[in-house]
Amino acid sequence: MSRTSLSEFDLIARYLSRPATAGRSDVVVGNGDDCAVLALSPGQQLAVSVDTSVVDIHFPHDAPPAAIGHRALAVALSDLAAMGARARWCCLALTLPAADPAWLEAFADGFRELAERSGCELVGGDVTRGALTIGVTVHGEVPAGQALQRRGAREGDLVAVTGYPGRAAEGLARWQQGERNPEHPLLEAYLRPEPRLSAGALLRGLATSAIDISDGLLADLQHLLSASGLGARLDLEALPLATPLRATLELDEVRQRVLNGGDDYELLVTVAAADLAEAQRRLSSLHLPLTPIGRIVDAEGIHGIDSRYLERQGWDHFPEVLS
Ligand SMILES: [Mg+2]
Repeated sequence: MSRTSLSEFDLIARYLSRPATAGRSDVVVGNGDDCAVLALSPGQQLAVSVDTSVVDIHFPHDAPPAAIGHRALAVALSDLAAMGARARWCCLALTLPAADPAWLEAFADGFRELAERSGCELVGGDVTRGALTIGVTVHGEVPAGQALQRRGAREGDLVAVTGYPGRAAEGLARWQQGERNPEHPLLEAYLRPEPRLSAGALLRGLATSAIDISDGLLADLQHLLSASGLGARLDLEALPLATPLRATLELDEVRQRVLNGGDDYELLVTVAAADLAEAQRRLSSLHLPLTPIGRIVDAEGIHGIDSRYLERQGWDHFPEVLS
C-alpha cells in the first residue's frame, strides 16, 4: 500500500505539478493535500464536467502519448466551451498499465501545454494501475445566469457551426489506415482538437443555445433539439466543407463525415437571424468561421436532408473493439 502511495505521489509530482512559483491566488490549497480548496471569483457560477477516455474505445492505443494527454483534457474543456464558461481548474484520474517514464513525460507535456494555454490549473490527481484510462474533471467559471445551454433554441433561429467539422473522423480513419505524419492536417484535427473556449465565451448573451460536437453534428444537434423541444431544417448545400476532405473524398462521403463524424469538438449553436452577423464578427477575432447550416422549426426532428445521412447517426469509431 505504501509503495502505491509513494508511486502515486511521485508520478503526479514529477510529471504533472507545476513549479510552486506558478501558484495562483484562486488556488487556496492545490495539488498535494487531501482536497484542493478553490476560490470562485465574485459574481461567477461554477461549471463542472467530467470525461473519461479509454484506450481503444476513445483513442487508439498507439496514438502519440502527448496527443493522448492533449485530447483527454481537450474533450473535457470542450464541455466548458459549450457552456460559455472560462476554464479554471482540473483534476486528473490516470489509470496506467505500467509506469513508463518516457510515455508519462510525453503524456504530461501534452496535457500541461493545453492546461496552461487554457488557464486551467491542475489541482488534483490520482494514479492507479489498470488498462489505460484517463478521467478528467474540469471546473470553469461563468457569469451568474449567463451559461449557454442546450435548451433555449427558438423557432426561426439559425443553426450555425464553428470551423470545419468532419476532419477529425477522417483523421482517425487515416490513422487506422497507417498514416503517421503528425502534421497531416486531418490527423492533427483528430489528435489535437482545439476546444472552442474563446468562441463559447464570445457567444454568451448572443447564442440562444449551444452544444459541442463530440458524437457527430447530427447526433449532437438532436440532443440540442430534444432539450429545446423543437426541430431543425438543414441546408445540405450550406455545410462548411474542409479543403483536405474535398480534395480526397467524394462529395457524399465528405457530407457524411461532416454530419456524422465525431471528435471535432466544434460548437453548434442557435442564434437569432438578426444576431448572426454580430456572432460571426466576434468569432472573426479568432479567425474562426461560423457557418449557418439551417433553421429551427416547430416540427420535431431533423428535416431537409436525405435519410441516408440520418441513418448513420452515431459514427462507430472503433467497430473492431465494440463488435
Ligand atoms: Mg458536450
